[in-house]
Amino acid sequence: MRESLQRLIELQKVDTKLLEIEELRGSLPQEVDGLKKDLGDTKETLKTSQDKIKAIDKKIREIEGNILQCNEKLDKYKEQLYAVTTNKEYDALTHELETMQGAINESESQILELMEEKDENEEITMNSKTLLEEIQQDLKSKSKELKKRISETKNVEADFLKKRDKITPDISKSLISKYEKIKVAKNGRAIVPVVRGACGGCFHTLPPQLVVEVKKLNKIIHCESCGRVLVPPNEELGN
Ligand SMILES: [Zn+2]
Repeated sequence: MRESLQRLIELQKVDTKLLEIEELRGSLPQEVDGLKKDLGDTKETLKTSQDKIKAIDKKIREIEGNILQCNEKLDKYKEQLYAVTTNKEYDALTHELETMQGAINESESQILELMEEKDENEEITMNSKTLLEEIQQDLKSKSKELKKRISETKNVEADFLKKRDKITPDISKSLISKYEKIKVAKNGRAIVPVVRGACGGCFHTLPPQLVVEVKKLNKIIHCESCGRVLVPPNEELGN
């Protein structure tokens, strides 16, 4: 058990270093991921509004074509109106004229509605373009910064990862999994030294007998308050 514990102590040292490297990169990786997502979303919005504008333009052209045809018919009916001889013919023709004019009016108000919709989508397009530019710039500078920080720490990180790979096979799987669980729950610190009779993780004062047991290094002893694994004080963890 002594050996297992000593390896766990080693593992904690390595993991603390890896955590420090991660902290150095800070929130940049998440920020870059978030910006990439925003970029995708904004491109999607831009494409949708541009597609809508195209569809609206097509629709407007169709309606305008129809109006043109209606107007031609309207002119014909008006000419025919001079040539009518009976009241019946006259009534029939004026009815046609009114229907045709109604259709034109309706088409015109349809065009107005479409223009409004187009305006809305043009605004969305404009805003999306501005936003896209901002995101691209932000992403560019943050990616550059992240790349720089990664390259600065890459070799050190690789060394520690190699060390980690060397240590872990010699520790039992159940012990590793216990260690990982505590590590996740306790901000990366699963193994803590006893500091002046207290837990080095939560500073809970430990019974003197427990401290004696910890120093023997012959079994896994958890802090009764925070659950971290306690190790002797002379082990300077994380340095
Ligand atoms: Zn504790």
